[in-house]
Amino acid sequence: MTYDSDNIFAKILRGEIPCEKLYEDEETFVFMDIMPRADGHCLVIPKTPCRNMLDASVEQLAACLNTVQKISHACMDAFDAQGITLQQFNEPAGGQEVYHLHFHILPRHEGLKLRPPGQMADFAVLKQQADKIRKALAR
Ligand code: 5GP
Repeated sequence: MTYDSDNIFAKILRGEIPCEKLYEDEETFVFMDIMPRADGHCLVIPKTPCRNMLDASVEQLAACLNTVQKISHACMDAFDAQGITLQQFNEPAGGQEVYHLHFHILPRHEGLKLRPPGQMADFAVLKQQADKIRKALAR
């Protein structure tokens, strides 16, 4: 298993393709998922290369989880959410499609199922939702 530096998230990190950015620090970067399965569905990635959880260093995992917690609090606030589902997939058999470690943050409400995968976002709506999260982060 090797790291392919041409994966989509590596291109986002290099600024080669656009994204709706929410947050970054020295070690991590956060942006909206373009096929959101819930309002506020976003992704936390390390800035340094690793394919997934299996080859990640303890430092990469710790940095990501620190950011996951911070963004999850902001999502709870921004969407008046009642819970957060955290998803993280490894290798094709584990459901992974993009081979740069990432954690999905999915704000949840009682009784509301996740939307099916593969549905492209309306970019105006995605931006409105990102604005809500950015505002909550600034509070
Ligand atoms: P996974 O590898 O965990 O199965 O899923 C990859 C996730 O990346 C999917 O939820 C998909 O919607 C998202 N995704 C794929 N391509 C892009 C992209 O170009 N930009 C953004 N923001 N998200 C993407």
